[in-house]
Amino acid sequence: MVAVIGDPVAHSLSPVIHNAAFAHLGLDWVLVALPVPDGAAPAAVQGIRALGIRGTSVTMPHKAAVIAELDELTHDARRLGAVNCVTRSGDRLIGDNTDGAGFVAGLVHDFDFDPAGASCVVLGAGGAARAVVLALARAGAASVRVVGRTPANVAAAAELAGERGAVGTPDSVDSADLIVNATPVGMGDGAALPCDPERIGAGQIVADLVYHPLTTPLVSAALRRGARSANGVSMLVHQAAVAFTHWTGEDAPVEAMYDAVGAHIGGVSGDLSSKR
Ligand code: NAP
Repeated sequence: MVAVIGDPVAHSLSPVIHNAAFAHLGLDWVLVALPVPDGAAPAAVQGIRALGIRGTSVTMPHKAAVIAELDELTHDARRLGAVNCVTRSGDRLIGDNTDGAGFVAGLVHDFDFDPAGASCVVLGAGGAARAVVLALARAGAASVRVVGRTPANVAAAAELAGERGAVGTPDSVDSADLIVNATPVGMGDGAALPCDPERIGAGQIVADLVYHPLTTPLVSAALRRGARSANGVSMLVHQAAVAFTHWTGEDAPVEAMYDAVGAHIGGVSGDLSSKR
C-alpha cells in the first residue's frame, strides 16, 4: 500500500495515475488518498511508519511540515525545503522532491528538448518554480531567469541555479529558448496570461505547469504565436513516474499513466496532442 496525504486530497490525480500503473504491470499494489489536516503531518508520518506504508506522495499543505519527521532527505528535497515523495527503505523514511526531474523528463517527452545550453525563463517563484529552476540548472541550462512579483521570492528561487540563475524582467521572455509558467495564472480564470504574448515567437518552447483548463490561455496564445507549447500534464505524470520507481523498483509505464490522466481529465493539449 502507498498513499497520498494532503488537504484537500479528494481531487488528487495520484490514485488515478498510480493505480493505472500498478494494474498495467500487474502489481498487487494500491494507492489510497488520505486526507490529513494542516498541522497533522507528524501524526500522519507516525502512522505511515506504524502501518508500514511503502511510499507516500505528499501534497499541500504538508510538503515542508513532513521534513522534520523523516530520517533522510535527498539533495533536491533539502535544497528546496519541500518533500513530495516519501519512500520507505527498511525502517527508514526518505524524502525526495520529484517535481524537477519530472519537469525535465516531460520536456524530453513533449518536445524532444534537452535544456543543456538553453536560455530559460521561469515565471513565478513558488514551490513548483523552485523545483524547475533547480532541475534546469542541473540539466545544464545556460541561464535561468526568474520573473515574478515578490522580489525576495524571486531572488531566492534564482539562487537555486547558482551562477546561471538571475532575476529576470518581463522582457527576458523575448530571448528565451524555454519559457515556463510556474504561476497559477490561467487556471480556470478566463483569459489571464502570465506574460505578454506579443513577446512569444516561433522557435520558442512554452511549458505551462497549469493543466486546468486543458488548453490554458498561455498554451493557446503560444501556439497562435508559432511557438511549441504544452500544459502541465507531463510534469504531473513524470514526477509520479519517478516516485513509482522509488517505491516499486520498476520502470514506470509512462504511457499507461498518460492514458489514465487523459481519460480522467478529458485529453491532452498543445504539442502533447501530437505525441499521443
Ligand atoms: P505556489 O508555491 O503558491 O507559488 C505560486 C507562485 O505564483 C508564486 O511565486 C506567486 O507569487 C505566483 N503568483 C500567484 N498568483 C500570481 C498572479 N496572479 N500573478 C503573478 N504571479 C502570481 O504554487 P506552486 O505550488 O508553485 O504552483 C504553481 C502552479 O503550478 C499552480 O498552478 C500549480 O497547480 C502548478 N503545478 C503543477 C504541477 C504539475 O505537475 N503540472 C506541479 C506543481 C505545481 P508570490 O511569490 O508573490 O507569492
